[in-house]
Amino acid sequence: LRNVVMEMLTSWGYEGIEARNGEEAFRRVMVDKPDLILLDLIMPDINGFEVCRKLRTEMNVLATPIIILTARGEKDEILKGFEVGANDYIVKPVEPFELEARIKTQLHIKGLYDDASAEKEDLATLLKISTAVSSTLNSRDILYTIVKCVGEVIDVDRCSIVRIGSKNGVGYVVTTYDNPSINNLAIDLSKYPEIRSVLEGKGTVIIEDIQNDPRMASVKDILKKLGFSSLLVIPIIVREEVIGTLMLRTSRKERSFSPREVNICQVIANLAASALTNAHLFESVELNNLQLEKLAITDGLTGAYNHRHFRTRLDEEFGRAVRYGMPLSCIMMDMDHFKHINDTFGHAQGDKVLSEIADVIKNNVRQIDFVARYGGEEFVVLLPNTDKEGAFIQAERLRKAVIAYSCSGRDKCILVTVSLGVSTFPSPEINTADELVGKADNALYEAKRSGRNKTVEA
Ligand code: GH3
Ligand code: MG
Ligand code: MG
Repeated sequence: LRNVVMEMLTSWGYEGIEARNGEEAFRRVMVDKPDLILLDLIMPDINGFEVCRKLRTEMNVLATPIIILTARGEKDEILKGFEVGANDYIVKPVEPFELEARIKTQLHIKGLYDDASAEKEDLATLLKISTAVSSTLNSRDILYTIVKCVGEVIDVDRCSIVRIGSKNGVGYVVTTYDNPSINNLAIDLSKYPEIRSVLEGKGTVIIEDIQNDPRMASVKDILKKLGFSSLLVIPIIVREEVIGTLMLRTSRKERSFSPREVNICQVIANLAASALTNAHLFESVELNNLQLEKLAITDGLTGAYNHRHFRTRLDEEFGRAVRYGMPLSCIMMDMDHFKHINDTFGHAQGDKVLSEIADVIKNNVRQIDFVARYGGEEFVVLLPNTDKEGAFIQAERLRKAVIAYSCSGRDKCILVTVSLGVSTFPSPEINTADELVGKADNALYEAKRSGRNKTVEA
């Protein structure tokens, strides 16, 4: 009988696999994963009902249709077959037309079942992504969730989202599944013919076989080295413009991307569209804001903080010092005879000296110290958590650093010196931020009066 059935199967275009007994049947089912099982109830080692029961229970083979072949076609036998999990039965001797029809029906049902479970899986993925899209505000997180989900449901080696730059020929890898640390990595689109192809056609591009696709000729050797065999690139479109692509690369040999995979990726690419727009907008706004903020608080000539920002920080630091009972020191610094420098070398050269002095100060204070341009050629330094002694040492260090600078790196030595006044909170005479600055100013005046190029403590 087996031989007869095998011949029929082959003639209908199916590929049959034989098992001579129960044990072999279990093994072949696990290894070959057949689409349908024809089960004879009479077997040498084990009863066919038992084979069916074991497949359906212990071995968890649930979706594969099983058709049993019964010799007698008795009612109780057929019922028992259904009871242990068979889907259909045929009474021997096997009538070819009947067998073919029953196989076709079962495979058709199995196909519907497979589609439904794939669809269910796809829906679960889409649900996961749309939940992520609506539960996080951070576009970067959304985009990473998208590539992660795609990477999990589709067997790919790399899944990335690339944003198309405004400059021609540049793209940015916004996020990629296999490397979460990648962030806006710039790429040269001339090395990505598959992306260019998407940009030209504004539609999905599938490269089934990289090595034999004429579009990939220029890069096929590199991709071969990387082990990729197929590519799927889907445009992310906003207002008819391709703003990015969802890119999948796989090394699987047996098949390229299935229509189902392409479909779900196209839906996902749509979900990515607004996140990608937002990520881009957000980043440029954020950058602009940072630049504006920096402009608003720094001084154009020296790059030090400006007077207005000094007032803000002064109040903050003074408040902190009072609250936590920590010392706060203030150094006021004024260049000595700066009028003379301007008169001798010109105002432009004076500007240059001023900006270099600002660098000297910034390079000679701690990270937490705050340097601002207080006025024309006056600077102020706030030193949190620094007592009287520490502040004096710091002021002297600055004074010496300025002298050391004045003769370095130029042909003509311009001797530049500064006078400094230092004040420290807590002190019986200092109750407000203004008094802290006032005392430093008085001390500076004293330094000037008593000969310049020196530090005086309040
Ligand atoms: P001293 O402080 O030692 O008493 O003498 P000084 O000549 O430095 O006098 P003062 O501090 O009162 O004068 C400041 C001078 O610094 C006035 C101005 O010509 C110059 N100055 C102020 N701001 C700038 C600036 O932005 N660029 C240049 N080149 N010079 C400036
Ligand atoms: Mg001066
Ligand atoms: Mg001055």
